[in-house]
Amino acid sequence: MSSVVFKSLILGAPASGKGTISSRIIQNFNLQHISSGDKLRQNIQKKTEVGNEAERYIKDGKLVPDDIMIKFISSEIKKVPNQMWLLDGFPRTVSQAEALWKVEKLDLAINLVVPFQVIINRVKDRWIHLPSGRVYNVGFNAPKVPGKDDVTGEPLVQREDDKPEVVLKRLELYKQMTKPVIEFYKDKNILKDFHGETSDEIWPKVLESLTFYLPFKSQTNNNN
Ligand code: AMP
Repeated sequence: MSSVVFKSLILGAPASGKGTISSRIIQNFNLQHISSGDKLRQNIQKKTEVGNEAERYIKDGKLVPDDIMIKFISSEIKKVPNQMWLLDGFPRTVSQAEALWKVEKLDLAINLVVPFQVIINRVKDRWIHLPSGRVYNVGFNAPKVPGKDDVTGEPLVQREDDKPEVVLKRLELYKQMTKPVIEFYKDKNILKDFHGETSDEIWPKVLESLTFYLPFKSQTNNNN
């Protein structure tokens, strides 16, 4: 490890299970979860300066420009000094990766590798509770009552962009964009690929790898 305070990030295609794996990591280890998307959405809601700026791009389905993102994430990192963290959603470009590396040397880049066809099939069965963002999958993570959110009982919806042809396009775009970022971390010798078709298959491998670096939050809570 390059530092006493463990610093990591997670990369994964849309619907690769990145959200599930991240939340299991956070449940099991004392890491701050710095999700760029979540942080931006919080700022949009609070109508902060960066929130207002970012909203213009997000509304158009565009990435927020690198200079804004680099400044924003650097300041989020500064808010948790001497703490261990897991970055999620950042970096998305090599410029972001380079800028981050100048500020912080990372210890581990977790790369989730799930076959595209598996993702396409999974997304077909995906239902979302829009107000909370909770995601269900018919088959392996179904809601208790079909079509209803477990917590609120409100209706679930399917997204237009969960259609197979749209998903494939998003995945191809992700691959193209992320390839140089993956190469960047490979060159730094901190990239670790985790292969599998489901989060339940991938999770034990991530868990084993992280226990090499980190103590558990609680010894009794390491299975979910
Ligand atoms: P996410 O929840 O990670 O999909 O992020 C939601 C939106 O926030 C993305 O579609 C982008 O517009 C923006 N965003 C989040 N992270 C980044 C980033 N690292 N670089 C540029 N834009 C980002």
